[in-house]
Amino acid sequence: MKFDTAYSLSLDDKLSIYDVRDLNFDETVAFDSDQDSFLCPNDDCRAAFEAGNVLSTFNAKNVNYLRTPHFKNTPSTRHIDGCRYASTHKTATGENDDEREENFPSEFVLTRRTYAPKTPVTSPQGQLPQGPEKTPSSRTSPSGSSHDTTPDKTSVFAHPVECFVSNIDDKDKLKSMPLKIGDHTATYSTFFKKIEYLQDNKGLIYWGKIKAIKDYTSSFRIDFDKKVWLDKKPYSVNVYLSKKLIENYRKRSVFLEQIRAAADSDRALYCFFYGVTPELKQVPSKKNPEQTFGVFSANIENLDHLLIREASGLE
Ligand SMILES: [Zn+2]
Repeated sequence: MKFDTAYSLSLDDKLSIYDVRDLNFDETVAFDSDQDSFLCPNDDCRAAFEAGNVLSTFNAKNVNYLRTPHFKNTPSTRHIDGCRYASTHKTATGENDDEREENFPSEFVLTRRTYAPKTPVTSPQGQLPQGPEKTPSSRTSPSGSSHDTTPDKTSVFAHPVECFVSNIDDKDKLKSMPLKIGDHTATYSTFFKKIEYLQDNKGLIYWGKIKAIKDYTSSFRIDFDKKVWLDKKPYSVNVYLSKKLIENYRKRSVFLEQIRAAADSDRALYCFFYGVTPELKQVPSKKNPEQTFGVFSANIENLDHLLIREASGLE
């Protein structure tokens, strides 16, 4: 059984495994999932046991994962009768239900989730998850904005991407699951757009196989394999990641590690991004700077909304 969320003892909040990964890699917060305890998200169930009745994490720290990250029961995790997280089949060993992401967030929230308020404050909806005992935490958060923590929303891009990638063989599911981003509501199937069809619509999650990653040491360019056709002519597509963007990124170390490994990799890698739509630009030719040629290009504006990963089954 995979958990949509788990209760983090150190943060006194319910987190998805993608939130946990995001925190693990964030250099601006002192969070380490190995030092935390994750408990059943069912409040009644959690209240019935000691804090040692924990869940385990899978792929909480692996930078490049292939199998879907998740929380799961350990062989000794107990639940109260009727808890929907009580697994009726075998746990921990021989578990084979971790092949795909089943918890589809209905909204991808563009502002990053924060974990600040430990003392009860009123959220816009006037609701807070009812934990057992709200005690002040020693942990501080960079900003104090309250945030909707409804489990079916996420601000971690990897979560909807994992839903798409791990369910790519189930087109009906992708066509039926709703996704909201900003003011736009569509299905997962509609939101994820192959890069070669980027002219169809703006504001989507574009994705495609990477042809090459140009490493300019402090900046990068990701070239896509497929070309965009316009007026019966093919144009290359790329996205550019500026030095400033990378230097200011809160997950800079892990990002640089990953993109440099990707640049040297022989494996098929895919890039997903949201927030910008590549447009036709004229750029000077390297061989003959007098000449220009057309390319569809965009400058990535938020590295939280870009992902490079392996994705078997996409093509
Ligand atoms: Zn439970």
